[in-house]
Amino acid sequence: MTSVDNFKVFYDEDADLKWLRGKKVAVIGYGSQGHAHALNLRDSEVAVTVGLPLHSASKARAEAEGLRVLTPAQAASGADVVMMLVPDEVAAEVFQQDIAPNLKPGDFLAFAHGFNVHFGKIVPPAGVEVFLAAPKGPGRTVRQQFVQGKGVPCLVGVLNEEHPDTLRLALSYAKAIGGTRAGVFQTTFKEETETDLFGEQAVLCGGLTSLMKMGFETLVENGYSPVMAYFECVHEMKLIVDLIYEGGLSHMRASISNTAEFGDYLVGPKVVTAQTRERMQEVLGHIKAGEFANQWLAEHQSGGATFKKLRHLEQGHLMEKIGASLRSRMSFTKPT
Ligand code: NAD
Ligand code: MG
Repeated sequence: MTSVDNFKVFYDEDADLKWLRGKKVAVIGYGSQGHAHALNLRDSEVAVTVGLPLHSASKARAEAEGLRVLTPAQAASGADVVMMLVPDEVAAEVFQQDIAPNLKPGDFLAFAHGFNVHFGKIVPPAGVEVFLAAPKGPGRTVRQQFVQGKGVPCLVGVLNEEHPDTLRLALSYAKAIGGTRAGVFQTTFKEETETDLFGEQAVLCGGLTSLMKMGFETLVENGYSPVMAYFECVHEMKLIVDLIYEGGLSHMRASISNTAEFGDYLVGPKVVTAQTRERMQEVLGHIKAGEFANQWLAEHQSGGATFKKLRHLEQGHLMEKIGASLRSRMSFTKPT
């Protein structure tokens, strides 16, 4: 039998900020993750600079926060720890051009997603140790929670298990961005990359949006009002997921009617079937073989026409139009 509680969680007392405070950190990129890391590091009294291209639109925002902004090459050359927070599809190019020439033996290279390292698109130079510090949440939440004295759970990993200082530095980094306040879990580049891609494709993003759309379309095709379809298949999703987040499936099922609960047990497996499980296996196989990574990088390199076409198509879906109209009339859904 598999033990369910034999995993190690690192909290504040398991990590020491002094390891990171003794080093200079460059955060490359100032988007979702970049702004949160840079600001949390600064507030944890870590010497941090931000690396951005000269004409980056994010530069003014970083400077308005009092952060020092240099070019990626300059930031990397002055740093002991370089955290790569540019989009995964451009990271290898930025690394080759700006970062690699400015790394010296003894430096550390860090990532918030193992994608490029695991699939061999970024090959760290000899003498440079590599770690992962990946918050399990969007950058906005990483910053918001930190400001409130809380944190977002974080994954850490090291590429070279033999180097004794890398894990303690990764933990020190995770503490500085607030991760150890919530709990830090150790993983590997391989596990983080493959589970992250699988989760977002099959369940969180791809699976969820396809389920919602198919439910919405089924109701609308059968003559029901798109407003009702939106409430049933989209709006109420959050209420259900919040209950699961708080207390698991049982807690959610304790809050819904017995009618809903019986329908859940009976019909769920008829909608998400053994065939879906087979598809999930295929999706995972595709990810593990690096085929998805190659497909995505090739798409980016060829100008991203398919990506843009799909984005445009999805934005025009009736569910999106009805949703925008409904939300504009529902003050309670406005972000606070
Ligand atoms: P993002 O798109 O929000 O931000 C990217 C930043 O990189 C922007 O500031 C952009 O100006 C900058 N940039 C773009 N091209 C650049 C270049 N050539 N040189 C320097 N900077 C450049 O990206 P993100 O979502 O924060 O993702 C960063 C990393 O964090 C990725 O590895 C991603 O997988 C990982 N991650 C993201 C999230 C998330 O919630 N967004 C969560 C966990 C991990
Ligand atoms: Mg993810």
